[in-house]
Amino acid sequence: KKEAEYINDLERRIEEYDPKSSKAAFFKDLPISDATLKGLKEASFVKLTEIQRDSIPVCLKNRDVLGAAKTGSGKTLAFLVPVLEKLYRARWTEFDGLGALIISPTRELAMQIYEVLTKIGGHTSFSAGLVIGGKDVKFEAERISRINILIGTPGRILQHMDQAVGLNTDNLQMLVLDEADRCLDMGFKKTLDAIVSNLPPSRQTLLFSATQSQSLDDLTRLSLTDYQTVGTTKSV
Ligand code: ADP
Ligand code: MG
Repeated sequence: KKEAEYINDLERRIEEYDPKSSKAAFFKDLPISDATLKGLKEASFVKLTEIQRDSIPVCLKNRDVLGAAKTGSGKTLAFLVPVLEKLYRARWTEFDGLGALIISPTRELAMQIYEVLTKIGGHTSFSAGLVIGGKDVKFEAERISRINILIGTPGRILQHMDQAVGLNTDNLQMLVLDEADRCLDMGFKKTLDAIVSNLPPSRQTLLFSATQSQSLDDLTRLSLTDYQTVGTTKSV
């Protein structure tokens, strides 16, 4: 079948791609699908930022990643592109349930991620959803079972996990912890620990942060397996 061949070819290109020696400058230099490339181009994302160039290839190789880069460096696409590619290569469909979970510290940041995702995801068939509170848990829960990529705040996600007919994470392929340092600053340590311990160990995890700390090290140990660090954690 044509799509299977195309995905095989992508997998081969990813395998051959050497993040250390490759100096990709543009998204089109990366082994990513035409659907994602098209979405990026339409949203006027053409050139890679440093953190995107360093992290996306490692994420594509299915490694866990600790990404460190200051605010404004482009961390959102550094994880959204791998999320889309992971599900694309898994030939994820609307019937496969939750494939990726993205956790963000605030409603505002979660909404921003959702907006970027809708901007670049127009040529993929995945459903995306936001759980950030403000709406009835039941109202959200009815819709959540049909969502492939879920973005939410820690408290609200855990709330859904604790529901009787809660969030089904059995098939989860990828967990993204965005602005992990801010999550910890805001007191979400226990909530994050509880969420992570509910997830299948086979998933891939990407953790992004602007700064480093002892509590971030603890979260890293708990949530990442055999991970690679990209970017710089030097404080400004
Ligand atoms: P961070 O999460 O690291 O603070 P964001 O992902 O929010 O950074 O990106 C910061 C800004 O840079 C946003 O306005 C975003 O649209 C823009 N941006 C990100 N990546 C690119 C890119 N590859 N090309 C052009 N603009 C980009
Ligand atoms: Mg960000």
